Amino acid sequence: MKLSVEIINQLSDNYSYVIYKNDSNSSIVIDPAEAEKIINILRRKKLNLDYIFITHHHNDHTSGVIDLVKAYPKVKIFSPSKLDSVKTNAISESDKIITNLNVFKIIAAPGHTLDHIVLSDEENNLLFVGDVLFRLGCGRIFEGTFEQMQKSLEKLSNMPDKMLVYSGHEYTLNNLKFLEHIFSNNKILEHAKKEITSDLNLTGRSIPFVLGKEKKCNPFLNQKCEMAAEFRNTNKYTDHEFFSYLRVEKDSF
Ligand SMILES: [Zn+2]
Repeated sequence: MKLSVEIINQLSDNYSYVIYKNDSNSSIVIDPAEAEKIINILRRKKLNLDYIFITHHHNDHTSGVIDLVKAYPKVKIFSPSKLDSVKTNAISESDKIITNLNVFKIIAAPGHTLDHIVLSDEENNLLFVGDVLFRLGCGRIFEGTFEQMQKSLEKLSNMPDKMLVYSGHEYTLNNLKFLEHIFSNNKILEHAKKEITSDLNLTGRSIPFVLGKEKKCNPFLNQKCEMAAEFRNTNKYTDHEFFSYLRVEKDSF
């Protein structure tokens, strides 16, 4: 039986996720910010909450945990950092966590924060990336170095094309505007814009997105992407100079 992923809007532009299967009452929640909305969905679907996974310590990815624990006292919490007032199980690079529903491989991805991890379910082609990778963008570098962030994104760019990516925020239209500003009249970007507009019209969200397509049009994820080829030829940046240029420009965009 295939896994289902329910996307839950949280706060102003955050996403939390509920993972479940139709033949099971078990569920996993990722990065809860607002417990009430999540509890309503779990009750409506008659699901028990067995696991919470946290991608990084920021409040907008963890603030729902305490109330979820009150509603589901037996829930197991997996987090790369300790959280206030609840018991957590530590997770770090290369851990494999076997749940009732799937297996999550943990990938360390520092840069946005030092503790940031990505959750990869290779059997179901699911990638939960928190604030490391966004559609047409990447997370701001708050705690790590530019090198760390670039390496974390490189790890993701080496993963299979067919993976479906679930990010922590809906930032796509702003990311698109930034790339249009840097890479004007770009055919590949125009094509990406059409797909994004169609996704937003259909569901109100640009999430999830396909990793293989993203490798062609997201220069934060892949500095050698087709979309940036002409710009790179003109400017002669190294991969790292190019990544740093984009990240610095985006910070003040
Ligand atoms: Zn964050």
